[in-house]
Order: sequence, then structure tokens, then C-alpha cells
Amino acid sequence: MLLEIDRVSVRYATPRGVLNAVEQVSVGVARGETLGLVGESGCGKSSLGKVIVRLIEPAEGTIRLDGADLGQLTRAQWLPWRRRMQMVFQDPLSALDPRKTVRRTLTLPLEVHRIGSSAERRERVDALLHQVGLAASLADRLPHELSGGQRQRVNIARALSLDPDVLICDEPVSALDVSLQAQVLNLLSDLQRERALTSLFISHDLAAVGYLADRIAVMYLGQIVEVLPRDELWQHAAHPYTQLLIESIPTRGVPLPPTSSAELPSPFAPPRGCRFQQRCPHAMPVCRETPPQLTTVGTTHVVACHLYGGGEAAAGPVTKTIALPGRHGAAQAEPAVEPWQAESTRSV
Ligand code: SF4
Repeated sequence: MLLEIDRVSVRYATPRGVLNAVEQVSVGVARGETLGLVGESGCGKSSLGKVIVRLIEPAEGTIRLDGADLGQLTRAQWLPWRRRMQMVFQDPLSALDPRKTVRRTLTLPLEVHRIGSSAERRERVDALLHQVGLAASLADRLPHELSGGQRQRVNIARALSLDPDVLICDEPVSALDVSLQAQVLNLLSDLQRERALTSLFISHDLAAVGYLADRIAVMYLGQIVEVLPRDELWQHAAHPYTQLLIESIPTRGVPLPPTSSAELPSPFAPPRGCRFQQRCPHAMPVCRETPPQLTTVGTTHVVACHLYGGGEAAAGPVTKTIALPGRHGAAQAEPAVEPWQAESTRSV
């Protein structure tokens, strides 16, 4: 794996107490692969993206790039590694300096990393604009003079300017109009193919993740509950939460049962046992007591659920293949926007 996330936890100190946003997450991204990370708002997926690029520090765990433990690097040693991992943020306007033109925004990272002469930087910026589908005439514009889609293209161009090994896209289209979302998704898809990018695509939108990713990791309340290849998503999703996400995609046209009145779990005090138990139509007594562990159910498919023997992994790695039951209907649930997101937070 080019990027390895090994038992990483992220905690925030909030006025309500310590919040475990990410708990003991392990996942890797192979060179040239796009891993989709999907889950509802507040599940910890953006925190995981930020901890990878060291915008926040992990409470525990290791992040390795090309075998190097990034947590062991000093700030000075980090700069050349920082160049190898770039991030595209959700809000294209706030991610840009309102006083800098497009050309200045794209030139600055090259200057900081002392790449090329002045003429070479100019050429490189022109090439980047072309690559992300922006006219050269936009180079002298300020962010407020651009459309939302154009701003996000500038952000993508800036992230690509340093020729990174890994691109982390955190909800890159969710702030855009629906008409612009498809354009930016197509651009990312083209860039992945042309540049053989290794990327982590973070989104609450399973349809977008299913379109772009080679493999998909599903997160629920700070933990990964399923990882599976894109080709298996629609027919062989195993975890009840993944199945709920699929059923909730509006374009599938499946009539949904009324929203469950079950109490949504709090990230400050997650339930003992399976964290999905309050919303799961298959919850069993064991689910109330024992947290399910990730269990292998296919060559590259793992799921954390007692329906698939998820308790056995606690005693050691499970390697047997387990037959998957058929899909089922699932209750609609509103995205869980957690109250802590509106409060002041700091990582601990
Ligand atoms: Fe549902 Fe139990 Fe599986 Fe959790 S472990 S998803 S509660 S069946």
C-alpha cells in the first residue's frame, strides 16, 4: 500500500467532553487506486482526511506514506512529504485567498517548494489551467469573479501543481450546484485516469463514491464497518448500514419506509456492542453486548457485523469466506448532523 492508516484515532476536546471522532481505523490505499470513504455527516470521515495530511494530529495510531511513518517527522522534515500529499477541500471559496488571482494561487506552491524558474512556473500554471479545463483568460481573475465550479477547478489545479503522490478530496462537489457536480466529478475521473493518481475520495454521497472509487470504505460513527470493491457495491454490499445507504439514493426510486424513530447514537457515548444497533433491522442480542470486528467475506471484501461472524475476529484474523445473505429493505434515516460540529473543537 502506498498510504497506510494503522489503528488511527482522532479525539476532540469540546465543551461537552472528549469526542472520539475516529476510533482505531485501519485502511490502506494502493498506488494508483482511488479509495472512496463514505458515511453520513459527523461520522469522522473528514477528520480522517485531515489527520492524514497532518492538519490535525492523531490521538493514537500510525500513518505511513511509502513505508515512512509520518508521525516521526519533524515539522522541517515534513515539508517535502507534505508536497507528496495534497488536499481538495469542500468549500472552494473559503479554500482560496480572496486577494490572490488564479495565477498567483497556482504559482505560490511552486515558489514555496522552489520548483522551476519564473518562466517555467508560468508555463506550468498555463498547463495546469488547461488540464483542469479553465481558459487562460481566467488566470488574472480573483476568486469572487469565478463560478463555484471554476473555483473548485482552481483548487484541484493547486493540489495537482506539486505533482502529488496522493490526492485527498474531502467532499469536493457537495458545495456545488447539481449541474456543476457532474462536471467536477468527470474532471476528477479524467485526471485519475490520465495521471494514475492515488486518491482518497471522501463523500456522504454513495452514488458519487461508486462512480469514482475502485474500492469503497463505509464509515459509521467513527469506525469502518465495510470495505469492498466498487464492482461489488450494488449487488453484494453486506453491512446493513451500507445497504441502507444504497436504498437511500434518491435515483434508485425505491419507496422508502418512514424514518425510524429509533434514537440516534451519540458520538460522545456510543452504545456498547455494535454502534449501528439502534438503527439496524437485524439487531440481535449479541449486537448489544459485543462490538463486531472486521471479518473477511470475499477476496477483498471485509465487513464488521455479527451476521457474518464478526465476533470471531476478536480472537484472531478471520480468513474464511462467508456466504452473503440477500439484500433487504431498510428504514430511511436522516443524515446525522452531530451537535458537536457546531461547537468549538480542538484535537487532543
Ligand atoms: Fe446489525 Fe448486529 Fe450487524 Fe450491528 S452487528 S449491523 S446490529 S446485525
